[in-house]
Order: sequence, then structure tokens, then C-alpha cells
Amino acid sequence: MRKENLIDKIMDAGLKNTKYRVHIIDLLSGTEELLSAQEIYHRLIHKKLRINLSTVYRTLDKLVETKIVSRVQIENEKQALYEYNRNIHHHFLICQSCNRIIPIYHCPLHEYEQKLEEESGFHITAHRVEFFGYCSDCQKSVTKHSS
Ligand SMILES: [Zn+2]
Ligand SMILES: [Zn+2]
Repeated sequence: MRKENLIDKIMDAGLKNTKYRVHIIDLLSGTEELLSAQEIYHRLIHKKLRINLSTVYRTLDKLVETKIVSRVQIENEKQALYEYNRNIHHHFLICQSCNRIIPIYHCPLHEYEQKLEEESGFHITAHRVEFFGYCSDCQKSVTKHSS
């Protein structure tokens, strides 16, 4: 996303255009990774931005409130993680060895939801699924160790 669009988006959300917000949105929109507040803080410091951790938290809260950024709480993960809200339905593959989190954008569950609704009369508004296991890199290193 171009910087002008980012600023438009912040303005639309009624947020004051502070450089911290732009930097955090820039960082998150430029990666598919999910980042913790700590990680965001370290990356901004690395970019020579003068910011402190509590400002990062406060800015993230505002961005979550205005739905520009999503907060993701993953099971067994102590810290909340943040991702840019691309408004695309997705799930995650979570590696239990290296903690890598891989987004997957294909979801076949919507058809199943319809079936469930028909069968149960329940109106489904959302679902949440996470897949745990081992990424291809970690599987390779496990085979290496065991042979
Ligand atoms: Zn892994
Ligand atoms: Zn889904």
C-alpha cells in the first residue's frame, strides 16, 4: 500500500496522523508475519525511530480499536500478536517447534457452515480455527536427528 493511502486510511478512521501510527501500519502492512508489540518495538528502533514500548502498545490499541490492525491471541502464546487487517478471511498454521505462524487464505469451512446452519437452525456469524503441527523445515531437522 502506498503511503498516501495509509494516511487516508488513518484520516478516515478519525485518527490523528501521527508518525508512529504511519510507521506501525507501514511495518505491519509490509509483512505477512504476525508480530508481537515487543517485536514491533524492536523493528521500529532498528529503523532509528525514537519510540518507547508503552507508546507502541498505546498506538496498537488505537489501531485495533479502529480495525486497521487485528490483535490475534494464539493458544500457548503468551503475547498477543498483531497483523494488518487485510479484510481477507484466513487461518493459521502454527509450528510447535519454531513457532512460525503461516497464514492460509483458502477456507473450505463456509460450505460446512451452511450445512451446519441447515441442520441445527443455528445462525453462524464467525469461526476460528488454528492448525498446530510442524513446518516443513522443522520436519526436515527432526528426520535428520532421528536417523
Ligand atoms: Zn517450524
Ligand atoms: Zn475459515
